[in-house]
Amino acid sequence: MGFLEFQVKSQQDKARTGILKLKNGIIKTPELMPVATKATVKALTSNDLKEIGAQMLICNTYHLMLQPSADVISKMGGLHKFMNWDKPLVTDSGGYQAFSLGLGREHAVGKMFFPGNNYKQNKPHGKSTIKLNEKGIYFRSIYDNSHQFLSPEKSIKIQEKLGADMILILDECTSPLSNKEYTRKSMERTHKWAKRCLDIHNTDQAIVGIIQGGHWQDLREKSAKYNASLDFDSYAIGGSLGKSKKDMHKIIDWIIPHISPNKPRHLLGIGVVEDIIESVERGIDLFDCVSPTRIARSGYSHINPPFGTKKNKYRIRITLSKYKSDISPLDPNCKCKVCENYSRAYINHLLKTNELLGFNLISYHNQFFMLDLMREIRDSIEEKSFNKLKTKWFG
Ligand SMILES: [Zn+2]
Repeated sequence: MGFLEFQVKSQQDKARTGILKLKNGIIKTPELMPVATKATVKALTSNDLKEIGAQMLICNTYHLMLQPSADVISKMGGLHKFMNWDKPLVTDSGGYQAFSLGLGREHAVGKMFFPGNNYKQNKPHGKSTIKLNEKGIYFRSIYDNSHQFLSPEKSIKIQEKLGADMILILDECTSPLSNKEYTRKSMERTHKWAKRCLDIHNTDQAIVGIIQGGHWQDLREKSAKYNASLDFDSYAIGGSLGKSKKDMHKIIDWIIPHISPNKPRHLLGIGVVEDIIESVERGIDLFDCVSPTRIARSGYSHINPPFGTKKNKYRIRITLSKYKSDISPLDPNCKCKVCENYSRAYINHLLKTNELLGFNLISYHNQFFMLDLMREIRDSIEEKSFNKLKTKWFG
């Protein structure tokens, strides 16, 4: 049992707010964690993140074990000191990277698969660069192509060295195109790995179990029950989330009744506006997503309704020439430092000329926008006005 306390504060139907106490601080949920893959949320300083109101970040074990290595980070006093972040931190286990270098590459899909997205069943896809068996995951380093191995035990020991507040078990993330038999076998292996992770874990870091089972109800329920029977501090929903948003919603609904209401629930790797609102409504407490800074680097700025385009309701492409002499801020309804001080025209110019400040400013605004949405969600649940919030965002 790790160092974690969780209390549900208020509830409106299945949506809930809570207080999560970790070694390095207290977090209000529901919350979205900015992703600091290589110990940095791209283009933002830790001071930026504090100003924005980020409560907790998630870092990536696979990347950090390769560069600069867990030993270096441990020598530097741990991940918190290394990256100058004194609030709560989570590290993932490396399981998701095994997916993106393995099945994800082979099937050319993400955690969710929407048939029709220019996807051609017969087109040659990438080759998996990993091998996986009961012992663990064998892969090549993306940095120097060296042979690497990650077992459940090794993932936990690395995460203990990194020293985050909350750590994840090693799992295999299945693909939405994996068949039921493979998904079942993989789930059973992940269950064994979960037990091995718990057995070797001996720090006061909170440890999170990951529920697998793809988009099959019996598998998801089995995995939820199995994980609930182990003494995890928190639960995450991992693996394939199916072939539509409806699948994802069903998966959440199948799982929630089988896990303790007194433990936080994390929907791994999901975090765009619509998905967050729909999942909070179903009882999810934690999210993580690279989207705010990733879309920023492609020139997209988040925007409150009703200012977005028909296709992209919550974002505009600031690099379009129509914004070249636009004096208004990125989002007229945003109260962030960037929107108070800079125009669309200026940020359009910075991004067009690849000026580094442009990436900082637009990433700052996008992260602020998402964390502001989370504040709005928490307030609405406490004021029992979650339905009003849904109407505002979905129309
Ligand atoms: Zn802003």
